[in-house]
Amino acid sequence: MHMGIAGAGLLGRLLALQLSAEGHRVEVFDPASGPGPRETSGTQAAAWTAAGMLSPVAELDRSNEDVFHLGLRSCALWPGIAQALGVPQVCHFDGSLLLAHRSDAGAAQRLVGLLQAKAGAAYLPQALQAEALAQLEPGIHGPSLAWLLPCEGYIEVHNTLQALHAQGTRQGVLWHWGRTVAAVEPGALVLSNSVRAEFDHVFDVRGVGAKPALPVRGVRGEVFLLHAPGASLRRPVRLMHPRHSVYIVPRPDDCLVVGASEIESEDRSPVSLRSTLELLSAAHSAIPALAEARVVHTETNLRPALPDNLPVLKHSAGLTCINGLYRHGWLLAPALVEQALKELSL
Ligand SMILES: Cc1cc2nc3c(=O)[nH]c(=O)nc-3n(C[C@H](O)[C@H](O)[C@H](O)COP(=O)(O)OP(=O)(O)OC[C@H]3O[C@@H](n4cnc5c(N)ncnc54)[C@H](O)[C@@H]3O)c2cc1C
Repeated sequence: MHMGIAGAGLLGRLLALQLSAEGHRVEVFDPASGPGPRETSGTQAAAWTAAGMLSPVAELDRSNEDVFHLGLRSCALWPGIAQALGVPQVCHFDGSLLLAHRSDAGAAQRLVGLLQAKAGAAYLPQALQAEALAQLEPGIHGPSLAWLLPCEGYIEVHNTLQALHAQGTRQGVLWHWGRTVAAVEPGALVLSNSVRAEFDHVFDVRGVGAKPALPVRGVRGEVFLLHAPGASLRRPVRLMHPRHSVYIVPRPDDCLVVGASEIESEDRSPVSLRSTLELLSAAHSAIPALAEARVVHTETNLRPALPDNLPVLKHSAGLTCINGLYRHGWLLAPALVEQALKELSL
């Protein structure tokens, strides 16, 4: 079949990969000027800015059982996808850590209780004593409470997005860069120059760009890329904080991502002084060696969210929409793409 995809972000690239692997003729349209990341904050896919945490259990704090099960399924799917892309090293599943300073002990206990109740016995957060934490992550000092979430991990987002594009290209996907889709109709994509491109089936995966077809909104997030050769972090860390979900996630080449604010605004302007102070102070309070890290990049972007903050996957004749992946798109995307293609039984 001849497939049209509006959006070459995370969902668009995964769909292009799977559909072309199944022998379909695939064309993808995106306003981005090319397949790589942009140097400055702007309107690039949220997928480039994401930390890449794969946290089905910890995300239960803000989600429901459907998200949890889709997340577990994606965690099972990612290693096979990475293998097929020729980059098995991008997936890391050594668990993640939840940390709290003594002053936040009450909030941490409440969160752990909630995760235990929602995730079930097989996925219980495991309390760590100081020696066990020091063995896992010698660079962490300060937080007095720690739990290991063994089934969690992270993915290297830039390497994965680039590998998805490269493999899609090898499988014959046609990428149309600099092409905005103004409207998505059953079996057709209407481009901003009013050209109508016809297909057997189309997918609307424009994220925040799907307005007004969907009531999607952007939720601002700010992240910091640090070069920190002394920090030696192996797994993602979440730190309890009164205002933010603070996390620190390893990146290749001795880098770490510190994130992320969550602000109900579609403002894409550069990071604020307040977020800088709060997020980086929190990160430094958990990993003192970050004092000498270098801030090599800051970035803002918008998470695509629907009013209930839950994902949507819906089909009509000739058209499939997937959106609302919010703060856990990397966690959900492979399972949602699998579900969409199963339901379509193409
Ligand atoms: C700061 C931050 C941190 C995050 N951290 C994590 C994390 O740790 N773990 C996790 O699982 N998720 C995380 N996320 C969420 C994740 O990045 C998103 O949920 C995911 O990228 C959504 O995928 P998508 O394909 O729907 O949208 P996107 O990745 O945003 O892609 C949408 C694409 O559509 C294109 N587009 C827009 N308008 C049009 C148009 N009119 N025509 C054609 N194309 C169009 C865009 O250019 C873009 O390429 C984070 C997000 C942010 C912002």
